[in-house]
Parts: sequence; C-alpha cells; structure tokens
Amino acid sequence: MTRGWGQPGRTASGPARAELLRQRNLALALGTIARAGRCARAQLAEQTGLTKATVSSLADVLIASGLVVEGDPDRGLVGRPGSPLGLDPSGPVGLGVEVNVDYVSACVVDLAGEVRASAVLASDNRGIDAREVCERAARLARSLLSSPPVSGLRVAGLGVALPGLVDTTGVLRRAPNLRDLEGIAAAAVIAELLPELPSTVACGNEANLAALAELWFTDHEGRDDFVRVSGEIGVGAGIVIGGELWQGTNGLAGEIGHVFVDPGGPRCTCGARGCLEHIAGQEALLRAAGAYGGPATALGSGLGSVHELVTLARSGDGATLDALERAGTALGVALAAVVNVVDVPVVVLGGLYADIAPWLASAIVRELEQRVVSYPWAPTEVAVSPLGAGAAVRGAAGLAIRAVLDDPASWHPDTA
Ligand SMILES: [Zn+2]
Repeated sequence: MTRGWGQPGRTASGPARAELLRQRNLALALGTIARAGRCARAQLAEQTGLTKATVSSLADVLIASGLVVEGDPDRGLVGRPGSPLGLDPSGPVGLGVEVNVDYVSACVVDLAGEVRASAVLASDNRGIDAREVCERAARLARSLLSSPPVSGLRVAGLGVALPGLVDTTGVLRRAPNLRDLEGIAAAAVIAELLPELPSTVACGNEANLAALAELWFTDHEGRDDFVRVSGEIGVGAGIVIGGELWQGTNGLAGEIGHVFVDPGGPRCTCGARGCLEHIAGQEALLRAAGAYGGPATALGSGLGSVHELVTLARSGDGATLDALERAGTALGVALAAVVNVVDVPVVVLGGLYADIAPWLASAIVRELEQRVVSYPWAPTEVAVSPLGAGAAVRGAAGLAIRAVLDDPASWHPDTA
C-alpha cells in the first residue's frame, strides 16, 4: 500500500545492534512525548523504563533533530525544577490528501495526531482527465498549506488516499467509480505538482487508510483486531489484525463493495452482478430513498444529501426506511462473510454509515447473529466510528507522521 518509506527490520549484531536499540529508544521517547503533550525528563524515564541518563541523551538528540523543544522549568514544591519536553510546535507535520469520486480533501496532522487544518472541495471527478483531478488535489493542498494555522510548518511528507485498488507500487489498478485514474500513480503525480514539499510520498486505498486512522487516532480500548467498513459512493473495508493493517499479497484486500449479495442485482461498474455497492453504496441508497445525490455528499457537503437521508429516516419516510433496512441487511450479510473468514471481534461502521448507523445497526446485528458461526459464544460487536468523514485523509497524513515517529533518527542533522 505504501511506498517510499519503511524498510523491513533486519537482524543485527554488535555495533549495528546497539544502533538499532538507540533508534528504537528514540522512537519510544518521541512517541511518549507526543502522547503526553508535555513531559519532564524524570517522567519520561519513568514511563519508558529507561535510565535517566539514557533519557537525557535521547532528549538531546530529539532536540537537536528539531522534533522536540524544552520548555520553561516547572517549579514543584519539592526538589529541583524539571524542564518539560514537548513537541516542536513548528512541526514536522504530515500532509494528507484524498482524491475521491466526488471530492478532493486535504489535512495537516501533527505528531500528536491532532488535525491542525483541513479543507474539502466538492467536485465530481468522474469523466475528468486524471491530470486535472490530480491538479485539483494539489491546488487544494497548496492553498491549505498557505493558510494561517499551518503556513510555515515543516512538512515531513505527503500521504495520499485513493478510491480503488492501489498496488504496492502506488499505481491505482482498479477504480470502478473513477476510471480515468486507473493505471495512474496518482500520488506521484500530486507530489510532482507540489515540488516545494519533501519528496517522501506514500499512498493507499481510502478504506485501508480510514482503518489505520481508527487504529492510530481513536481510543479503541486496546482493540487491535477489527474490520472497518466505509460507506461512500464506493464501499470499502480495512482489515486490522494484531494492530496491523492486513493488506493481502498485492495490497488489495478489503474490497467488500464487490462482494456478491444480491442474485437479482444489476450489473456493477466492476463487471459483475449483485455487488454490495449497488444496495449499500451512497448513490444507491440516496436513489432508493428518493434523496438528491450531489458531489461530496458523504462529507456532508453537496446540498447535504446525507443529512436529507437522516431527516427522511427520522420522519419515518417509508421508502427511506426500506432502503436503509435493505442496505443494513446486505451489509450484515457481507460483514458476516468477512468475520467468518478472518475472525475479528469488532466491525466498525465508518463514512456515511456512521451517520445512518441508528437505522442500519439492527439489520446488521441480525445478520451477524444468524451467519457468524462463533456468534453464540463470541458475539461480534458493531461499533460506530467517531472520526467522521475525514478518516481516510487523516490516515493518509498519518502515514507521514508514522514515518517520523517510527524513525526519528533520520531527522538528526548528522544523518542527513
Ligand atoms: Zn462490483
């Protein structure tokens, strides 16, 4: 899914092992400071289990690397004052960009995982030349980066979320809802259009990146195994097992939108018939409910069609409730198949599904109960994502942040 970053761990010995250990300790210290927000050296030693001397040396390296700053001493009632360590407010930050079927979006996220700025542009990208779509995304990103809250911050790298099957080389192999981008390394094109940024770029499928955002940026109470299904024009899933995204051999796992659920269903953009997307996808749902479908509806823009759907459901509109019941049932059937295969305890409803979860949940639970073989003694939990519609772009920015958090040593001036 990603490229440009991440070297596999190697077995080392002697000096190489000592260097590896130092790198891991640096990552541990930086991660602890990022989570704490403000952390004295003594506190850092306590939380990491490292000696005070080691922590002090690591802190000096992180400061010299421009990742951490030392604040004014906190004067306690007893003992010597400690100077708290905190993240450098000038960055680095990660830039996330999402190109989706009916919008482009961008966000800037800092090492603590906080969104410092974000922007969305509603634009139906179907039938538009790939270069023009990438230019739309690059223009939005450049405009965001020049806006007051984030202008001047150091950008560590670019992460791009794409609505289709992204292979391990970064090429969008299949995007049934955005054919013009197929065969294009869209992230690389966007990076070329932003030459002022570092050349570090990573990309991935939007549902996968939304699942990573769930893992990185929510309090998921130690749940490291789940499937997160994202409802937009396309329907995708990200599978997290053991705290890692499970991508499959070719980086293409999680295509739940094209799981067969309806023998009488219409032909799908993928070429098959009866796909989940044709019952539970955003446009199928809006059409069945008689609601308007404009661009960026999954983000609450585009005349607010998702809000319209919610309003219709609340008012008890028969067609809407029927459409939601049908979508919930189809989602439950598809999710039960996934749970039976990969055995995860939680399914998370994201994107559009988070907004309409109250009308989907009972049908989903009913189907899981009937179809998941382990349900009688290990019932599958159905959770609703708290991340809203911006999960994928936040996950994309997260790729850039994780690269810094995992390898702070690469930021030291001597390394450069
Ligand atoms: Zn299909």
